[in-house]
Amino acid sequence: MTTPILDVAGLTAAYGRRTALRDVSLTIRPGQILGLLGPNGAGKTTLMDAVAGKVRPVAGTVSVCGMDVTRRTRAARARIGYAEQDLAVFPTLTVRENVSNWAAICGMPRRGHAQAVDAALSAMLLDEVAEQRVRTLSGGQRRRVHCAMATVCRPPLLLLDEPTVGVDPATRRAVLDHVRALAAEGTAVCYSTHYLPEVEALGADVVLLKDGATAARGRVEELLDRFGRTVAELRVR
Ligand code: ATP
Repeated sequence: MTTPILDVAGLTAAYGRRTALRDVSLTIRPGQILGLLGPNGAGKTTLMDAVAGKVRPVAGTVSVCGMDVTRRTRAARARIGYAEQDLAVFPTLTVRENVSNWAAICGMPRRGHAQAVDAALSAMLLDEVAEQRVRTLSGGQRRRVHCAMATVCRPPLLLLDEPTVGVDPATRRAVLDHVRALAAEGTAVCYSTHYLPEVEALGADVVLLKDGATAARGRVEELLDRFGRTVAELRVR
């Protein structure tokens, strides 16, 4: 078996006295897509923030490409593309400038830079608005810019936090296609969503979080068999 790109062991995280994650363990191997499901407040974003070194664990460890995120945050962070729920784009810059600057910040060499930016824009169906300032875009278009930024450097680990919220069906399909293609190339993907059909379409393994703890894990079909109604409710959200 290949070594995991992401290895989370016994992770507990809190905001002050509020515990948001309790003893969560999971791994994602190269080419694997892990769907992170759970109701509002279940801890999905906190888990991704802890993986990205933004939230410091109270207990447990997170390792990315063999590096402890708490100790080697910058080096580990360089292996992660994170499309966060809170959009961090520069509204006065164009779509292309945002993606291109991000690629430069990530240390992408000049050679191949323009092609990589073009490919990331195309994959997110952003060609037509590439020269538009981000402040003129719709919410769904901005989310796509964020996905393009997260993927442009082809990081070994991709964290996508509800990437399809507010996007139209054609774009949703494009996002899912792109995620599948990246996984086929070996990217490890953690994909948080409220929509069970998306993780089914991705052929993903699933971790279901509830109140910060792992309520279930496995293939979608197995979870439907075991939990029926609970998971099925997620399907219709
Ligand atoms: P959603 O589906 O609504 O995005 P989520 O599964 O991503 O939810 P989190 O955002 O990780 O859940 O929140 C987990 C818990 O931590 C919730 O109880 C939330 O209120 C709490 N929480 C999250 N961020 C903070 C914060 N900055 N300060 C205090 N509590 C927080």
